[in-house]
Amino acid sequence: MIDAHIHADCRAYEDFKLIAIAGVESAITCAHDPLKMSSSAVILDHFHRIIFNESKRAAENGLKLYSALGVHPRSISPDVEVAFNKLPSILENENVVAVGEIGLETGSSSEKEIFIKQLKLAQELEMKIIVHTPRRNKREIAKMTLNIINEYIDESMVQIDHVDNSIIDLVSDFKGLRGITVQPQKMTPSEAAKLLDKYGTQRFVLDSDMSSSPSDPLSVPKTVHELKLQGFKKTDIKRVSQENVAKFYGI
Ligand SMILES: [Zn+2]
Repeated sequence: MIDAHIHADCRAYEDFKLIAIAGVESAITCAHDPLKMSSSAVILDHFHRIIFNESKRAAENGLKLYSALGVHPRSISPDVEVAFNKLPSILENENVVAVGEIGLETGSSSEKEIFIKQLKLAQELEMKIIVHTPRRNKREIAKMTLNIINEYIDESMVQIDHVDNSIIDLVSDFKGLRGITVQPQKMTPSEAAKLLDKYGTQRFVLDSDMSSSPSDPLSVPKTVHELKLQGFKKTDIKRVSQENVAKFYGI
């Protein structure tokens, strides 16, 4: 299994062991907003920790960790240009498989500006992109986000994340990946199973988005278990819990 979206830097060492025992072989850890990003120096230190410290902590527990780096919409410092200008060389690290997570939180003009800049950068570097959709005003902001994606980038390069019943119709024809975040307060394993039963497993991936917010490190194994109990085909279970992510990122 692969967990398609986590925040390893907010998790205990023991969580990596726990998910490895449960059968998660790799995960993608995304840049986010673990601190008040008061300056670009903090954003860059955050990137450094993800690339160098987190992959080591995970590897010591038998978990292969890949990274997605970028400026999260809740992490825009007043001097964000400094971090943005250093991003291309940081993205060259072999551990990095995508630009992310990026996107919109409130839809402000500064969020749009840095989101678009990062989409253009990803296109230039021919990199995949992990895009966040928020909890608040989810549908309205997701529409705005999808419009920007359509305007600036080939959507088949994008993993649009935190897809739930409130926005699934907006991404029914989406050509990239659609991430289902199974998380307390967001979606249970059985709700995820219901969604996959209705829409199929093509272009869907599962993730825990485990962070400092209420999370369940075992989201992906628990959802796979639920899918087995509900009689999903082995090929469908493998596709949504491993193959789609592995193919998309070449991992
Ligand atoms: Zn996240």
